[in-house]
Amino acid sequence: MIEIKNLHVSIGERKILDGLNLTVKDGEVAAIMGPNGTGKSTLSYVISGREGYDVTEGEVLLDGENILGLEPHERAAKGVFLAFQYPVEIPGVATMTFLKAAVNAQRRSRGEEELQTPDFMKLIREASTKLGINMDMLKRALNVGFSGGEKKRMDILQMSLLQPKFGILDETDSGLDIDALRIVSEGVNALRSPNRGFLVITHYQRLLDYIKPDTVHVMAKGKIQKTGGPELALELEKSGYRDYVGEAA
Ligand code: ADP
Ligand code: MG
Ligand code: MG
Repeated sequence: MIEIKNLHVSIGERKILDGLNLTVKDGEVAAIMGPNGTGKSTLSYVISGREGYDVTEGEVLLDGENILGLEPHERAAKGVFLAFQYPVEIPGVATMTFLKAAVNAQRRSRGEEELQTPDFMKLIREASTKLGINMDMLKRALNVGFSGGEKKRMDILQMSLLQPKFGILDETDSGLDIDALRIVSEGVNALRSPNRGFLVITHYQRLLDYIKPDTVHVMAKGKIQKTGGPELALELEKSGYRDYVGEAA
């Protein structure tokens, strides 16, 4: 499980996260909703280890271990997966080749044997079919010329191959039409498991009709302001965030 304790984060002179506390247990799907610019993406970057953020106080514990001192690839090896944030385009490298390298890098880091091509092909064929991804697409260079929805499906494919311990999905719904939203959500739902937690960041309640969260947190002004069940998301859909942001900016 992930425990975030009293997290304070600045970018340059500006304080973005201000004593944030959040726990996501194994098997739990937690949603974070909140107004624009409140630090939701910052939180997901800090958990995954992106540079440029100054953590001045606090801890991020993965199964009790503080991961804040680890490099992004070390966190990934421990099972932290951030979707939808690095739509890296890799011209000249077929998506399939990239995915195989990612899966095998993770297996090596866990001391497991690498997958040989036939086994990998079987794995990827099954996973792609579930996500409505055509095998022809996997022969194309990663993300080059992919639509927003295709990039997201590709990220879910990557997540389903890597089987992370803790998956973070930031703005899952942006850029997805209703069919793609359903497919991506089904992909996430298929990965729900008693030993895997998810943090789903979204502006809109609609996504949570597809990915049903166990808990909903309202984030504003750099911290969690309220925690509840799915009904909290419905409430927010009606009232907006005005109760949490104070005076209108
Ligand atoms: P959210 O995801 O909730 O919309 P963000 O985490 O993206 O919020 O941003 C929080 C605040 O931090 C915003 O005011 C944003 O402008 C600011 N911010 C984010 N990244 C940077 C950066 N690299 N440099 C300066 N300010 C930033
Ligand atoms: Mg934003
Ligand atoms: Mg954001």
